[in-house]
Amino acid sequence: MTHKKIVIVGGGPVGLSMAIKLAKQGKAVTLIDQGLTKANDARVLALSHASYEILSELQAWPDKDCTTAINCVQISHRGLGITQITAPELKLKQLGFTLKYANICAKLEAIANAEPLIQLILGNVIAVHDGAEFATICYSDANNAEQILSTELLIMAEGGKLLADQPKKIKHDYQQQALIFHIQTAEKPANLAHERFGGIGPLVLLPFEDHYVVVWSLASDLAEQLKANHPQLISELDDEFTQRLGGAKLLSAPVSFPLHLIQIPKRVLTRIILIGNSAQIVHPVSAQGLNLGLRDVVQLSDLISEDDQINLIKLQQYDKLRNKDANAVIGFTHLLATKLETKNNLFSHLRGAGIIALSNLPLVKNFVARSLIFGL
Ligand SMILES: Cc1cc2nc3c(=O)[nH]c(=O)nc-3n(C[C@H](O)[C@H](O)[C@H](O)COP(=O)(O)OP(=O)(O)OC[C@H]3O[C@@H](n4cnc5c(N)ncnc54)[C@H](O)[C@@H]3O)c2cc1C
Repeated sequence: MTHKKIVIVGGGPVGLSMAIKLAKQGKAVTLIDQGLTKANDARVLALSHASYEILSELQAWPDKDCTTAINCVQISHRGLGITQITAPELKLKQLGFTLKYANICAKLEAIANAEPLIQLILGNVIAVHDGAEFATICYSDANNAEQILSTELLIMAEGGKLLADQPKKIKHDYQQQALIFHIQTAEKPANLAHERFGGIGPLVLLPFEDHYVVVWSLASDLAEQLKANHPQLISELDDEFTQRLGGAKLLSAPVSFPLHLIQIPKRVLTRIILIGNSAQIVHPVSAQGLNLGLRDVVQLSDLISEDDQINLIKLQQYDKLRNKDANAVIGFTHLLATKLETKNNLFSHLRGAGIIALSNLPLVKNFVARSLIFGL
């Protein structure tokens, strides 16, 4: 059994950011991922200004031509309310950016590869065990041979697939799928994102290069139907929103992602800590999952920055440090996602009223917007 000081399982954006952040503190890290190339992942994400700052500090912000700035988000509710949040209102250069998940991972992987303190291992982790003296990781390597590592600190960033039987885990199946696809509209996006409620499912239009990326959360059977029938998909989309942008033309086949909420109330075991999607998976309606995960990275690395040895007592503070931010995002997102749009739904009207109220209460609006961008 080989011993390592710190091991991270999972080389998605959160695990890779964590490894780079720790290496910058002079700590040696081993990261195991089952296959780092994410080129085929269709996700286009909206990252907040705060996430831009976190990744820039790691010199891991993707090249300018891979990113599109969001300067304004317009939030509307069919027949009820409309408000918008702009970067100047929040005294920011931009609210955030849209970029491909694959490009974020590729940039982080290049930085990690060039960092002598980071050892990247290609391996499929089969099981992990916590312990008072050390944690262990069992994985099959690139040659399918079983390997075992022990470590003083094991950071789980594998997206929540291992340790799935955590006690008191909160799980909610939305019975929805997010359809992601690219569209062209007669009206160009001009750095403006849209969030639309009150129709057949929460709809997000993200400006991306010279067109939009649509993230549409729909009841699973409807999502399947529209995924297979592109003319109907575009007709529903035009009816829902894009008619006002001059009509939509499909640029890419829709890709679907099943949606559920997972929250692990206890992120710290003894020598195992859960971050990113391993600790929480949230609905994409408010584009918060990775933003939240990157804030996990910052808080955990800050907590252990000054210690050469792993301080188990101090580590226990991590849960408390992350609770407020995570609970706020999860609560807000879950509220938006669970009340699927039926036109006579009381919640739907309240949400419309909320949007009107937000537009009339700039301080509240700024607070909500700042919380979503920077966390609580
Ligand atoms: C449709 C959709 C839209 C979204 N939009 C946004 C958005 O606009 N903004 C935003 O902030 N977030 C968004 N998200 C959420 C975002 O994608 C996640 O929060 C983010 O990817 C989490 O990163 P992670 O590194 O924690 O986990 P992941 O991205 O899931 O990475 C996990 C890594 O672990 C590896 N792994 C898994 N199991 C093993 C194993 N057994 N052994 C070894 N390695 C393993 C995987 O290969 C992968 O590299 C969206 C999500 C979806 C589904």
